[in-house]
Amino acid sequence: MTEHPRQTGEIASYHAHVYFHSPEQRARAAWIREAVAARFRVRMGQWRETPVGPHGAPMYQIAFETALFASLVPWLMLNRHGLSVLVHPNTTEPRSDHLDHALWLGERVALFGDRLPVRQDIADEAGEPNTAPSV
Ligand code: ZN
Repeated sequence: MTEHPRQTGEIASYHAHVYFHSPEQRARAAWIREAVAARFRVRMGQWRETPVGPHGAPMYQIAFETALFASLVPWLMLNRHGLSVLVHPNTTEPRSDHLDHALWLGERVALFGDRLPVRQDIADEAGEPNTAPSV
C-alpha cells in the first residue's frame, strides 16, 4: 500500500488488444475490428499475425482516449465473441500497466512483462484516430 493513492489522471489513454489463435478466431477478430471501426473514433493498430512485444499470441491493438472507456469497453464485453481481450491503461509505468492494472475480457493470454520498461518519461497517448465511424 502506498501512502497516497495513484490518480486516474495518470492514465493518458487505453489500449484494448484483441487476440486470436486460429483462422476461425481471426475471422471473429476481423468482425470485431470492422464493427469497432464503424462505431468508435479510435487508433486501430495493424494486424500482428505473430506474437510481438509482451504479447503471447497474435492480435491487433485498439488505442483510445480515456473518454471512450465507458462506451467502448462495455461494447467489447458484449461483442468479443469468445475472444480474449486485454484492456490496459497507459501511464508512465508500462510494465505494471499490463501486469497489475489491466483487465481481461475472457481468458488470459501469456504476457511477457520483462519486455516492457518499468518506467518511461511520457505515457503513450492514443494517437490520431484512423477510423471513420458511421453508425
Ligand atoms: Zn497495449
